[in-house]
Amino acid sequence: MENRRKTRIINIGSVQIGGDSKIAVQSMANTHTQDVDATVRQIKELEEIGCQIIRVAVPTAEAAKCLSEIKKRINIPLVADIHFVHQLALDAIENGVDKIRINPGNMKDKAMLEKIILSAKNKGVPIRIGVNSGSIREFDPNTENGDHEDMVDLMVNSTLQYCEHFESLGFKDIVVSLKTSDVPSTIRAYKMIANQCDYPLHLGITAAGPPSLASVKSAVGIGSLLSQGIGDTLRVSFTGIPHNEVRFGYEILESLGLSERTQPELISCPTCGRCEINLAKIVNEVNEKLPLDKKGIQVAIMGCTVNGPGEAREADIGIAGGKGFGILFKKGKKIKRVDEADMVSELIHEIENLP
Ligand code: SF4
Repeated sequence: MENRRKTRIINIGSVQIGGDSKIAVQSMANTHTQDVDATVRQIKELEEIGCQIIRVAVPTAEAAKCLSEIKKRINIPLVADIHFVHQLALDAIENGVDKIRINPGNMKDKAMLEKIILSAKNKGVPIRIGVNSGSIREFDPNTENGDHEDMVDLMVNSTLQYCEHFESLGFKDIVVSLKTSDVPSTIRAYKMIANQCDYPLHLGITAAGPPSLASVKSAVGIGSLLSQGIGDTLRVSFTGIPHNEVRFGYEILESLGLSERTQPELISCPTCGRCEINLAKIVNEVNEKLPLDKKGIQVAIMGCTVNGPGEAREADIGIAGGKGFGILFKKGKKIKRVDEADMVSELIHEIENLP
């Protein structure tokens, strides 16, 4: 892991991002914002699983009007996501949101954009300048046939110009994001901008696809940037309900040692020709029954006595398979031999008995 990049600190409501603060995990509600009850319900569920900042879409005046009511009923900072319509950004700021996200590239009225910046400045509301590859292509047709490198250069240069414009009005309460759906381009864009400004960076791979694909792209893209000390907050984008985005965001942070484990960690071998038990079945069953309150414990389920005992000993609870049986280890000590049929229940029993 490389040292964390130095950034200025930005306060999104009660959550501080940048500087030495922990990397904040955020998500975006997928309800219609004007359906206040449904939106608040979803945000509360996300709060419960650790979401630290929530963004909602604000596509209409009706949605903007609901922001103050939503804010009153939730406990985490509320971010309004606004495109094209300048007035909605002004309304969102007026209605008490903790941050707005805009893409200045699709807010072409300079006077109105300046009004937004000054209104945010007066109210102490930070702005995320969220540029993504789609908007660059849409608003600069010259990139339509260009390659990824041209597109990344354009994204970075546009973002720096937007920052300069904001700064010329005395506004530096800025968070920056430069998302694309292409992992190497996203990594390149964030690395480039990281060297050219001190604003906190919001990481993400945009339009990453269904969870099976998006999880790989996000882990590689976001994870590689974080491992290089780049990034201050993240949003994993999965098609579907946002709950898995939050869970997966933490998994990325936990894998890199950037967040304490919020769940038990299950270690299991891939199996090979030495394995004489149905390890995949046992692992799946244990995974389903793992007591989630045993935060941070390690459980190792290994297929044989060649490599198994080492890992099993290092875990809090481990098992190394033999022919139709396994040797159970607890805190490094061999405690008993268990038949294959009893492995799941014995493992769960021992895990539950851990302090
Ligand atoms: S622990 Fe044993 S069974 Fe599992 S992959 Fe390693 S050698 Fe194969």
